[in-house]
Amino acid sequence: MKAIRLRPGRERSLQRRHPWVFEGSIAKGAADPGETVRVEDAEGRFLAWGAYSPKSMIRVRAWSFDEAQRIDRAFFERRVQAAVALRQRLPIASNGLRLVHGEADGLPGLIVDRYGDDLCAQFLSAGVERWKETLADQLLQATGAARLYERSDASVRGLEGLPEHTGWLRAGSAGGGETEVTINEHAWHLTLDMATGHKTGFYLDQRDNRALFARWVKQGGYQRVLNCFSYTGGFTVAALAAGAGHVTSVDSSGPALERVTVNVALNGFDAARSETLDADVNQFLRDSLKAGRRFDAIVLDPPKFAPTAAHAERAARAYKDINRLALMLLEPGGLLLTFSCSGGIPADLFHKIVAGAGLDAGVNAAIVQRLEGACDHPTTLEFPEGEYLKGLALIRL
Ligand code: SAH
Repeated sequence: MKAIRLRPGRERSLQRRHPWVFEGSIAKGAADPGETVRVEDAEGRFLAWGAYSPKSMIRVRAWSFDEAQRIDRAFFERRVQAAVALRQRLPIASNGLRLVHGEADGLPGLIVDRYGDDLCAQFLSAGVERWKETLADQLLQATGAARLYERSDASVRGLEGLPEHTGWLRAGSAGGGETEVTINEHAWHLTLDMATGHKTGFYLDQRDNRALFARWVKQGGYQRVLNCFSYTGGFTVAALAAGAGHVTSVDSSGPALERVTVNVALNGFDAARSETLDADVNQFLRDSLKAGRRFDAIVLDPPKFAPTAAHAERAARAYKDINRLALMLLEPGGLLLTFSCSGGIPADLFHKIVAGAGLDAGVNAAIVQRLEGACDHPTTLEFPEGEYLKGLALIRL
């Protein structure tokens, strides 16, 4: 087994069971991509078993802090089974769910979503890439799913020195076939395409917030709803189900908007209640303000403006701007659900940004609920960096 020796003092984060070793912490040692290495402190004492990634800033991701642990097929089988067992304990009102959430499930770099009888996975680190075939078999075995589609086309693969790869990893008896699937989330039917959608095809992390939005819309009797960054219209369907008279869905992705229309029809709603707009949200908000439009409820769920803390300042300006405009477009008594999925923007900073937006807009609002990602996207006590989605429900005063 190859050893990776850390520089003096750099053992502390592994001792706190944080699973990453950065390039700058390493004194000596190297291995092949994804190879299991023994990480030791400056004196040669064992710290962790991990996967080596020669191109990545995160040079080692820990598999285990137990020296007696062997990193073999059985090890991965137990981790996969544990992830599946955890999900069975969670109250998830859908047959679409996050089955493996990377570090939080002890499998750094592996994302697996389940859509009914199908799985869709992203292998985003050298470690899980090396164990891919083993993991694929174990995932099917642990879930009873027949097919597994691979979506290893995220840009972080580049940081790991891994080429992009997509396609059927396990095609089932039918030899692959249709990548479009329909899930039942809450009382709704939502279609997605594992091959062409964003990430693995769907934003499962917003599941609980979509249900919450439906409840708020129903209670408030909100009629004119604006869904910004709508993607395939999860929040749109939620609002229509809750009795909204009309929903405007805005996104810059044409294919996503086509699917909004499909999802609206699939749930039996009159097409006249839904309007889709292929536009830049910022521009749309400005134009709407100029045109004197007003809405009773607005969702703002933008993409990651700040992937890391280094982008936080620019991202803060962008978040502030759209929140300021949205607050101005909202009727008094109206509801705003506003989110950030940027790991680089912690919840307290996001709240300050939205507060600043309110001040600039000259609008006060009651914070009626703090929002986060669904429970099948957990963080762990050892890895708080896993936290990324945060939001606020506001009612304009
Ligand atoms: N709320 C959605 C997920 C939103 S993901 C859901 O519940 O499923 C973010 C979306 O923002 C993506 O669909 C992306 O196409 C869109 N997007 C990114 N930048 C945009 C921009 N400047 N204007 C409009 N849409 C944008």
